[in-house]
Amino acid sequence: MSGIKSKEIHLASRPTGMPTKDNFKLAEVEMRPIKDGEILIKNHWMSVDPYMRGRMMDMESYVPPFQIGEPLSGGAIGEVIDSKNPNVPVGTWLNHFNGWREYAISDGMLDQKIDPTLAPAQAYLGVLGMPGMTAYAGLLRIGELKDGDDVFVTAASGAVGSVVCQIAKAKGHHVGGSAGSDDKCKWLEDVAGIDKAINYKNHKTQPELEAAMRDACPRGIDVYFENVGGDHLTSALNLMKPFGRAPLCGMISRYNDTEPTPGPWNLVMAVGKSLKLQGFIVSNHLDLAEDFIRDMSGWIKDGKIKWEETVYDGIEKAPDAFLGLFSGANFGKMLVKLT
Ligand code: NDP
Repeated sequence: MSGIKSKEIHLASRPTGMPTKDNFKLAEVEMRPIKDGEILIKNHWMSVDPYMRGRMMDMESYVPPFQIGEPLSGGAIGEVIDSKNPNVPVGTWLNHFNGWREYAISDGMLDQKIDPTLAPAQAYLGVLGMPGMTAYAGLLRIGELKDGDDVFVTAASGAVGSVVCQIAKAKGHHVGGSAGSDDKCKWLEDVAGIDKAINYKNHKTQPELEAAMRDACPRGIDVYFENVGGDHLTSALNLMKPFGRAPLCGMISRYNDTEPTPGPWNLVMAVGKSLKLQGFIVSNHLDLAEDFIRDMSGWIKDGKIKWEETVYDGIEKAPDAFLGLFSGANFGKMLVKLT
């Protein structure tokens, strides 16, 4: 198969502070013929994720930076349309890492075969994929969730947070959460079934936010699932019970900072209360993948996990979708539909 034109998004420049559309460039390339052992994938969906902000910087991290003038990469769902690899025939659906482009060539080695008849294909970028697995590993392994724990989740209506909330509810816990709009809070209480959701944007100061979080978890917090940082973390340190655990999954409120920001002034609370604050990266917990797929498939089948998606249409919209993560434009998983 030759002559296929593919649009892709390149990194045009590295952002300072909040990225803008100028940091991205739309390019069109012609796909070369595949070689022995390779496959050609037509992408149907791609994911945009907050961690990609870190990859726009030229700094050492757990994942290499994007390169200026090169296509970005990230999670994508595609269908094999040409193959010289007998293990990955034409028609195979894959969850792979060559997103931000319409077509990709791969050797198929690290690509995960998916069954699009089990769940909509794009669910493998959300509840059944990396965000779902992050929620599972973060809450159960890092958070060491145990009977009777009270749980508080930030960015609670997002891809990771909404799954954390619902796993905790499926296991019978009291769950409070915060999100950035009344609609998101209503969904969290009425659909995801959490006990109390607060719109953090209605609580402008740290003491006000802390009071609202206390209202959501009146007995205190055993497991604080951190996606946001800032005043949420300060408030949580005051509200956590002795021997509480805080899985530090992300701190999106800090990703576009241009100046060093002060840490929580009350970090000393962690000493007196014997708190455990532990950062984690999902890719270090892939040994849980089999358990995750088994449990998550069961919860979905039993109607215990619901999800929302915000979909932008076309590769041209991928930068808008990514930028939208930092203003809460997404309700649930942020996705770009490529076909
Ligand atoms: P989400 O689907 O939750 O989207 C991001 C959300 O963050 C937005 O919708 C917005 O929701 C909220 N947000 C944005 N800016 C702020 C702010 N300044 N203050 C408070 N909330 C804000 O994204 P994900 O579920 O994919 O990711 C959630 C977190 O998990 C991120 O911090 C991410 O980096 C982290 N993560 C970590 C992984 C790991 O391995 N450790 C893996 C995957 C994700 P709202 O409307 O509620 O403000």
